[in-house]
Amino acid sequence: MLVNLVEILKMAEETKSAIGAFNTPNLECLNAVIDAAERLNVPVIISHAELHEGVSPLAKIGPVMVQAAQNAKVPVCVHLDHCETLSYMQQALDLGFTGVMYDGSTLPYEENLANTKKAAAIAKGYNCGVEAELGALASREGGEGAASGPVYTDPEEAAAFCKEAGIDALAPSFGTAHGIYKAKPVLDLDRVKVISEKTGLPLVMHGGSGVSPEDYRKAIANGLRKINYYSYMAKAGTQAVKELLAKEDVTFFHDLALAAEKAMGADVEKAMRIFAGL
Ligand SMILES: [Zn+2]
Repeated sequence: MLVNLVEILKMAEETKSAIGAFNTPNLECLNAVIDAAERLNVPVIISHAELHEGVSPLAKIGPVMVQAAQNAKVPVCVHLDHCETLSYMQQALDLGFTGVMYDGSTLPYEENLANTKKAAAIAKGYNCGVEAELGALASREGGEGAASGPVYTDPEEAAAFCKEAGIDALAPSFGTAHGIYKAKPVLDLDRVKVISEKTGLPLVMHGGSGVSPEDYRKAIANGLRKINYYSYMAKAGTQAVKELLAKEDVTFFHDLALAAEKAMGADVEKAMRIFAGL
């Protein structure tokens, strides 16, 4: 069942849980995520990141994602992650995406606000929910290292931004980073609570994979309603393929794809259980 970002985040608010948002750049990821959500009977967000355009063009994977959401037995939001240009957002809206994240976090505050307002106004015309980012995470999406340190989101600034921007969810910066963690992340979860209270909006955790179960639970209790999770799921898929190839002389690619899908499904299911409080 296809739902929009506002509807799915409302479900999370009602149950004081978080919805997992998983990138699905190919069919193996998509099957792993939707099947796991159906096994657990939880709502889920499937995402396409603008950064993955080279891996999987939006024009090809987008319609597949929308159709998978429509056919799913659980509520599914189809979301555009880290969109930096309005023309790319427009492509997703035309395909029927029901959530978009406009990311102007690298821009100066005023420019980020002006662009976010514009993006939100356009998306609303398509009954599509909007997420925005304020502050800066430690590294780029899918990136390896940090070019510069994180800039934590200021709660007062977040409150003013959300009041003006007309958005439905905010991604603040509070210590998580994209990609694979080299050291255990130290999260400022008190900051999350203050931002949640001051903005009154559902909050989003980026760089969500690799965070400890205790930190997930505390973050959810403090107002996190959407957790972006991808790197560790993708890593689980690669690991399964490596193990299979070490054991057997595999000829057909579909056997590798299936092994990856199964391992990603198991990894995602574990994350979904924690996010849903199961
Ligand atoms: Zn992100």
